[in-house]
Order: sequence, then structure tokens, then C-alpha cells
Amino acid sequence: MTDLRLSAAQQQAALAFARAILPATTVIPGGDERSVAAVLEFAHNISPGAGQNAGRVFRLLDAAAIPFTGRRFSQLDPDGQEALLQRWQDHPILSRPLFILAFLFKASHFDHLSVYQAMDCPFEKGGPPEPGRWLAQVMAGDEVDESEDIECDVVVMGTGAGGAVVGKELAEQGLAVVFLEEGELHRRDAFNGSVLNAKRRFYRDHASISALGNALIPTFMGRLVGGSTAINTATCFRAPEWILDEWCSELHTDVFAPTSFTRHFERVEQNLWVEPVKPELLGGLARVVARGCDALGWHHAPILRNAPDCDAQGVCDFGCPSGARRSMDVSYLPSALNRGAVLFTGMRGHRVLTEGGRAVGLEAHSTTSNRRLRIRARAVVLAGGAVPTPLFLLGQGICNGSDQVGRNLSLHPACSLSARFDESIAGHTAIPQTYYCGQFLPEGLLLSGASAPLSVAPLMVPFVGRELMSAMADVDQLASLGVMIKDQTRGRVRRLASGDPWLTYFLTPGEVELLQRGLGRVAELFFAAGAREAYPMLSNRVVLKPADGVERLRKMRINPWDFVLTSFHPLGTCRMGHDPATSVIGFDHQTHEIPGLYIVDGSAVPGPPSVNPQLTVMAFADRAAEQIAARL
Ligand SMILES: Cc1cc2nc3c(=O)[nH]c(=O)nc-3n(C[C@H](O)[C@H](O)[C@H](O)COP(=O)(O)OP(=O)(O)OC[C@H]3O[C@@H](n4cnc5c(N)ncnc54)[C@H](O)[C@@H]3O)c2cc1C
Repeated sequence: MTDLRLSAAQQQAALAFARAILPATTVIPGGDERSVAAVLEFAHNISPGAGQNAGRVFRLLDAAAIPFTGRRFSQLDPDGQEALLQRWQDHPILSRPLFILAFLFKASHFDHLSVYQAMDCPFEKGGPPEPGRWLAQVMAGDEVDESEDIECDVVVMGTGAGGAVVGKELAEQGLAVVFLEEGELHRRDAFNGSVLNAKRRFYRDHASISALGNALIPTFMGRLVGGSTAINTATCFRAPEWILDEWCSELHTDVFAPTSFTRHFERVEQNLWVEPVKPELLGGLARVVARGCDALGWHHAPILRNAPDCDAQGVCDFGCPSGARRSMDVSYLPSALNRGAVLFTGMRGHRVLTEGGRAVGLEAHSTTSNRRLRIRARAVVLAGGAVPTPLFLLGQGICNGSDQVGRNLSLHPACSLSARFDESIAGHTAIPQTYYCGQFLPEGLLLSGASAPLSVAPLMVPFVGRELMSAMADVDQLASLGVMIKDQTRGRVRRLASGDPWLTYFLTPGEVELLQRGLGRVAELFFAAGAREAYPMLSNRVVLKPADGVERLRKMRINPWDFVLTSFHPLGTCRMGHDPATSVIGFDHQTHEIPGLYIVDGSAVPGPPSVNPQLTVMAFADRAAEQIAARL
């Protein structure tokens, strides 16, 4: 653990908040010194400054109680603290710092063996590391002999949905492929189910990247071999045909026309063994969603996933402990490496090497030592993802004559609503996404499962204090659905002088209305299925009842920053098009400005496909491999 010490007064304030936000019940252990230490560690991982300043924030909030009660928060008795927390939850200013503080305590406290044991829930996951001949083709950046340049046909920067697919397809054509991955290779014994472990080790910048504008939207991406596919939920949707048609007409092309493009989806699905969730794994959430939809006459169906041997450990987003999800590190990459491709891990693509204006390779730097590597190639493929790839180009000032690099960012923002039933749902021990309602897809609304493991479940309810612990005592009866909207907003990725990303994104009034409508639809669905209360994830406490909940939510005035939003699907930041003046790459994925340099990842996808995008990114990559092979 990092040594983050608090003064005695700061520690006293921190402990008071830990105990009041997380009061012990007869079953669930309450907040204590461990929770405080975990919050400091969590804050430190997000930003070392946040860890250092946490003590001051605790003292400030401790003093914020004085105008309300005449005493510091830590001097109040438990009933007084509980009453004040409830008041602050509705306070126009203090509700926000309280929300953040409660978020940190909830996220840190429940992710611990003692809590899982007390609640009779299995904690430690992780199977034995899988064997594989392909592992001989993986080399850590530290082991690299930097005295010689490496020669190959194709160098691919990034091993996620875009990079792994394009690299494997090219390797299978007999081309010599080298992959560079900034993250490490983690095998299934590393995936122990802990959310904190995952955010620290497998997420880009410890999951601290957010888009800022009229709302704060944490934007998650993977940084490990397999990219975001190694920490994703395994949901597999094709981009609907009407979206493909929309892209064709917007971009004046026919390359995405369903008649010709569908075969790329089919190939990818075959490689990923995509199939609907097995009936025995659908879980309680599917049961209530189906019941609610049937009552309302709405569409509903099991989700298709690329995890045919799934044993429902329920921690997909923290790495699959059984290796059942056919993410890139389990499917495409081993195939490519078995065909002779080589993978360097812990190696960050640093700059494109050019000769006579043409890309001839990449220089890469080890993330843990001073080692450098030059890889010469006939084709250079950037596949770092929709935020890292534009950042990489902006850092070198290349391919941006159109001023389009980093623009056109879509986020497919997500929010959620949970409901309490009188029956067992057991979402905290189930696959997070097994079922969806597609009734409102044409309006841009996707309603799909958002079950969360025990460590994340407290973040799905807008409570603190005794109300929170009571909801957690009933966690078995909680059902959660996510709402994702097809956004019209186009944000921007910029690069700060430090090299860090700066994401801007402003929700339009229409999108705010769409989010609110989506939450309303989920409330309607859950009440039709028999829920007794519903909780939209807003930054203040809202409890909806069956009699008037839907109407109340419809009439509420919700501002953009009131939604608790996240994004898992950034796309679009290296725009594709015919015209070099208005786009970064052509329809063959080659950059307009540097021949031989290709972009094959989420940044090449024109906009939100209105569903989860991994299949779309992969289908684009499957097509890109054909385009690149034809030029080599
Ligand atoms: C938590 C989570 C859950 C998700 N769930 C789903 C889901 O259920 N279904 C779905 O369809 N989609 C899901 N997604 C989205 C999906 O995984 C992504 O859209 C997809 O993986 C994007 O592919 P990509 O190739 O653009 O980037 P990534 O898959 O993110 O891969 C990029 C890789 O490039 C590496 N890289 C970046 N820069 C460099 C550099 N300079 N040098 C070397 N390597 C570099 C990164 O470390 C990373 O490993 C989820 C995403 C997340 C984060």
C-alpha cells in the first residue's frame, strides 16, 4: 500500500464519514480504518494529488457541518450524522461532494474479502494460467535486444478489437506481423474479481479518464494485451443495417452497404463463437425484464455473447477468471502468434518512422525501462483505440492537415436505474449483461442488463448511511438495467502538454431528454414486472414508487450534470472520408497524409452504432485487413 498518512484530526474526520456512510449492520461490516486507507489508495491511484489532498477534503467536509449543526461532523452522534447526510443528499451544493465521497467509500469498502465473507458471497476468483504454444511468441519490452532493428511486413500498435483482428488476418496470409502493446499480458490467474485490482492494473490511466463539458463522463478503456476486449462484458451486437446505410449516405460511399459488409460480421462472429446466453445462465434479471416487457408489449431477447463456456462468475469487466470470454487475448492473438506473429508487451508506440514521406516503421519505448525498439515494416497499423490513437498522432503533429484528428468523438453515454423487487434476482452473482429490450433502438435507446458484482452494487443505488446498508442487505432483490443513447454530440480529444488526454463533450438538450426518457422506460418496465421501488442513478437521492414513479420521473427537471454517466464506447476520432481536407483516413484505412500508415480501431468507426461496438470495430478491422493485404 502507498504510504498516505493523515493528521490525527484528518483521520478522525475521515473515520467519522466512513462510519456514517457505511454504518455496520448485524451482517455487513461497517466503515473503519481499512475503508479510509482503501479510499486514500483509490484516490491516489486516480491521481497522486487527490490522495495527498484527501485529508484536507475530509477536514473541510467535517467543518461544513458547523453551519447546519453548530458542531463538526465528527462531533455529532450517529443519529445526528445520519440526519445530516440525508439533508446533504438534497442540498444544491453539498450533494455533489457527498456523492463523490460516498462513491469512493462504497467502491473501496465492499471490494474486500471480509465483506464478501460476511455476506456469504465468493470473493477470490482466478483459475490456473492457461498453457499455450503461442506464449513463446510473447516478449516483454524489458527483454528486448535493442541493438538491431526488427524487420517485418506489418507492425500493429495495439492488441484490442481493431489491432488483434487486422494482425491475425494478415498473419494468416503469410505476412510477418509484429504486435506492440503498451499494457502487459495478464493471464487468468491475474483476474481475481477485484474491481480495485482491475482498475489499477488493467484500465487505462487507472480508469481516471473523463470527458468534461456540461457533465462529467468517466470514459473507460483497457490497457493490457487484448485491449478493452479483455475487460469487456462480452456483449456482441452487429451494427444494425439502418446504421450501415446511414454511414454510407453520410460518407458518400457504399463500402458499408449491408449486402457487402455483413460477411465481415459473420467472419468475426465465427471466430468469437458468438451465441445467445444459455437459458440456465440468464438469471433473475432476464426473468423480470421479460415479464415487464411482455406486460407492456415490448421487444425483449437474450443477448448474444462471445463467451460460450461462460461459468457466470460475473466479473467480466475486471478480466475473465475462467478464460471463457473469447476476448482478443484468448482468440485472435493466439491464432496470430501460432502463425508466427510476435508480440512485444509493455512497449509503447512512440513515433512513426518515415522515409520519403512514407511510413516505414515504428519506434517503441519500454514502459518500465529505457529500452527502445525500432521496427521496420512495409505497413504500419495504429490500433491504440479512439483516445490513444489521436493522442499519438497529435503528439507528433502528423496526419492533421484537416484539423480532424481527435474531433468527432462519440461516447454512447450510459446511465442506469435499479429497482427493488420482492423476489430473488441475484444480479450480484450473475453475468452482468444477459438480456435486453430493443423496443426503443430506432429512437436511439438501448436498454440492457447492468447487473453488478457485490463490490459495485452499492454504486447502483443513490443512498448513503443506513438506507444504503439496508439496500445492500437486500442486494439479492436488486435488478439493474442500463440505458445507452445513440449520441448526436461530437466531442473532442486534445493532448495536454503532459501528454495526457483532455476530452471535451457537451450533451445537447435532446440527449438530456433522451436519457431521461430512457430512465423512464426502464422504470415503467420494472414497475410492470412488479418492482416495489426504483432508483434512477442521479447524483441526488430519488426514490420512485409504482403508483406515480414514472410520471414523477417524466416531470422532473434533470440537468446534464445530474446524471451519473459513464462511457465504455468512445469512437470516431480519426474520421474516414474521401476528402483529405475533411477527414484523416480513406476508406482503405490509410491516412491521407502518410502512405503506408493505417488506422484500424474504434477511431475509424464513423459514429455510434447505437449498440455496443466491439463487433463493429472488429468487422471494420476484418475489412481493413483485405485492403492492406491488397497493397502489400
Ligand atoms: C469495461 C468495458 C466494457 C465493455 N463492454 C463491451 C461489450 O460488452 N460489448 C461491446 O461490443 N463493447 C464493449 N466495450 C467496448 C469495446 O471493448 C471497445 O469498443 C473495443 O475494444 C475498442 O477496440 P479498439 O481496438 O479501438 O481499442 P482497445 O480494444 O481499447 O485496444 C487498444 C489497445 O491499444 C493499446 N495501445 C494504446 N496506445 C498504444 C501505444 N502507443 N503503444 C502500444 N499500445 C497502445 C492499448 O493499451 C489497448 O490495449 C467495453 C469497453 C469497456 C472498457
